[in-house]
Amino acid sequence: MTVSHWQRARQQEREVDFLVVGAGLVGSAAAYFAGQVHGRDVVVTDARDAGLGASGRNAGFMISGLDTYYHRAIEQYGHAVAREMWALSARSMDLWRSFVHNSDVDVPLNECGSLLLAETPEEAKELECAARALDKDGIEINYHSRDPLGRGYHAGIEQPLDAGVQPYLLTRSVMAQSGAEVIANNEVYAIECADERVTVYTRRYRFLARHVLLCTNAWSPQLDPYFVGKVVPTRAQCLVTEPLEHTPLPWCGYSDYGYMYYRSTFDGRFLLGGGRRHFQRQENGTSEDRLNPNVQAFLDSYLKKYFPEVTAPVAQRWSGIMGFSCDGLPLVGTLPGKPRVGFAVGFTGHGLAMGAASAERAVDKLLHGVCAGAVDVARWG
Ligand SMILES: Cc1cc2nc3c(=O)[nH]c(=O)nc-3n(C[C@H](O)[C@H](O)[C@H](O)COP(=O)(O)OP(=O)(O)OC[C@H]3O[C@@H](n4cnc5c(N)ncnc54)[C@H](O)[C@@H]3O)c2cc1C
Repeated sequence: MTVSHWQRARQQEREVDFLVVGAGLVGSAAAYFAGQVHGRDVVVTDARDAGLGASGRNAGFMISGLDTYYHRAIEQYGHAVAREMWALSARSMDLWRSFVHNSDVDVPLNECGSLLLAETPEEAKELECAARALDKDGIEINYHSRDPLGRGYHAGIEQPLDAGVQPYLLTRSVMAQSGAEVIANNEVYAIECADERVTVYTRRYRFLARHVLLCTNAWSPQLDPYFVGKVVPTRAQCLVTEPLEHTPLPWCGYSDYGYMYYRSTFDGRFLLGGGRRHFQRQENGTSEDRLNPNVQAFLDSYLKKYFPEVTAPVAQRWSGIMGFSCDGLPLVGTLPGKPRVGFAVGFTGHGLAMGAASAERAVDKLLHGVCAGAVDVARWG
């Protein structure tokens, strides 16, 4: 969005110490670290409101690691980075758990673990290699060389430390615990830097901020051209059934290299999401939040094939926009030539795995120049 000459004349000027742009999981966690750990006076601005982006639309899987199987992560990023990212996801999940524990409102969390399943013999081989690599690094898992569910899968890895959470309530609770003031319906459309001051033009205010942290994930390329080609908006689709009498799966299930995911909700429904692999031209590169009937039909057929006993009608279908990074790792840094404007974006469908710890590092980097390790954009030199 831009703002016209006529509208701009109506905008109030407002001084801010630490401004977070984006009130999703990552912006909420960043607001918490800036306010409660570093003692800054924090304001959060969002184009919509807290949790209305991907953070309130996701499947709620707190699943360890990256979006690629562990041995592939070692091949792609090197062993040290793969291990660091696993540790970063463990740190994120510890942080989410402590937010749940300290919350004034009940945030449902199910310590159910997750089950990664192979849909083909080829994927089963991948799972076996991943299991070996995880085991070698002392990471607690349980490998099944056959289908542990008897539903037509080929192998499985249980990750007992994973969990399922209610992501919208988690986002709202983390934001409440941050103590920050949230200004909703207030999109940022331009950022300018001069000396010690950052001017942030928004729909209603012109903020004069000492520090600004962008937590705008999929929408980042619309805000600053630096992110074009580095963060790609990618649509995801979900459905949820009416309540069931029996739970078909006691874990968070994940298969087809992470393209499919399913779990029971806290009110006894079955949630199924994914299917994007077969419709990449329609789903990748779009920030249009709408249902794709082709993906939804695929989800219906998947439900029939792998969970035929789930005959309850579908109660709701929805979509959401994720921010995929160009190399699969989150991006933490400061904008070129704008050292007071930081960012934590590009969570590649894994914000619950990597968001809280990346936000923690992003605030440290912005305020104290501390390198953010494997998620720091300094990795590109
Ligand atoms: C259907 C679906 C299922 C998913 N399942 C999982 C899962 O099970 N586990 C998991 O770990 N991850 C999952 N994800 C991904 C996860 O939701 C994201 O990685 C995570 O929410 C990212 O959090 P965020 O705060 O960076 O982004 P968001 O929650 O998208 O927040 C970004 C915020 O920035 C605001 N914003 C953007 N531009 C501007 C601007 N110019 N001015 C002001 N505000 C702006 C937006 O309004 C939004 O509120 C899923 C995503 C989807 C869509």
